[in-house]
Amino acid sequence: MRYVSTREQTQTVTFATALLRGLAPDGGLYVPQDFPAVNPGAWEKSTDFGAMATNVLTPWLGDEIPEAELNSILKSALNFPVPLVRVGNAWVLELFHGPTLSFKDFGARSMARLMNRFVDGEPLTILVATSGDTGSAVADGFSGLPNLRVAVLYPKGQVSSIQERQLIVRREGVRAFAVDGTFDDCQAMVKTLLVSPGQLRLSAANSINVGRLLPQMLYYYWAFASGGWKAADVCVPCGNLGNLTAGVLAHLCGLPVRGFIAAHNANDGYPRYLAGEQDAFGESIRTLSNAMDVGRPSNFERLRFMLSDDRMRQLIRGSSWSDGQTLNSIRRVYEETGYIADPHTAVGLAAARDAPDPVIVLATAHPAKFPDTIQRALGSAPEEASGLTSLYAMPVRVQSIEANPYILRSELENWD
Ligand SMILES: *Cc1c(COP(=O)(O)O)cnc(C)c1O
Repeated sequence: MRYVSTREQTQTVTFATALLRGLAPDGGLYVPQDFPAVNPGAWEKSTDFGAMATNVLTPWLGDEIPEAELNSILKSALNFPVPLVRVGNAWVLELFHGPTLSFKDFGARSMARLMNRFVDGEPLTILVATSGDTGSAVADGFSGLPNLRVAVLYPKGQVSSIQERQLIVRREGVRAFAVDGTFDDCQAMVKTLLVSPGQLRLSAANSINVGRLLPQMLYYYWAFASGGWKAADVCVPCGNLGNLTAGVLAHLCGLPVRGFIAAHNANDGYPRYLAGEQDAFGESIRTLSNAMDVGRPSNFERLRFMLSDDRMRQLIRGSSWSDGQTLNSIRRVYEETGYIADPHTAVGLAAARDAPDPVIVLATAHPAKFPDTIQRALGSAPEEASGLTSLYAMPVRVQSIEANPYILRSELENWD
């Protein structure tokens, strides 16, 4: 399997190179050069996630990692349950039972172990700028791996208290920086250092890395295996469109998805593009489903590379839901079924209400991560998740820093 950039397609690279580089040198995103057919026998009737994961990814990674090693990497990365539960007219696939309680754990934990496998020589320092779930998933997923270190940057005072806790608990090989600035400042610091790394060996772990897409395909297969369906619709709560792109990849490799529903909050550029609008993307808007607050989704470039506009509009239906509709969805789902959906999943459930049967909704985060919004919708907070309660008993480590990439660089050069 070789990968090419979405921009210049003259050079192909291995998975290992694409993974360690993140972004292609021409500024494009890596995409697979072709789509290996995944035999239905690889996933149908699967009852063990790790075994299914190895079968599905062997056509992708088998030429770079021996099967037994791939199996042990995936088993250790994806060691939490992925239940499919009936909620009203939909089947909800709960992707939030990993250690940081969002679906970002799938990509981060797998990517960490794969990077650790391919790095040689000097340890690699992974930079991650975060305003939501990615930072904690990466900090947790990469912690304790011998060849990797992680620096997490977040805008001071601009993440929720639970999110901040998840970022700053002391982890082996991880340093957290509270930046005096915005999320965009954090991202700009990462970009500057990737271009001027000084003595450091750096890479970035964000949603543009192809290493996140492969593990995110797996739960689409798992949903079909768990439901025993020959065809189904899938509804995806969308922000940067990474999750949707992974589903489209699975579909192009043979998974019988009838159609995708791209469920967005008020950041509705992609639904407007699907409806035929030119220049649909713009600045992001803050909403209650904050992990989906993306104005210019970076994976759009990948989707356009993989599908023609016509085919994309045939396969994917978009919709957009306001904060008021999100709160209503949480309330209505609870009243009708007793199920508590987090604000991101609630957008998905709203979008899937009129979908043909069977429809799978990806549940992207645990409701306990959003007690204030659940309280607002239902009048009482959700039960605490055990993983979150114990966070408050753990030691923390965080350093405040100016929004200056060179100060950060000298901090990282003197890693203790
Ligand atoms: C990141 C995230 C999303 C959006 O996923 P994309 O891959 O960026 O489209 C949705 N819900 C939650 C809870 C997230 O953390």
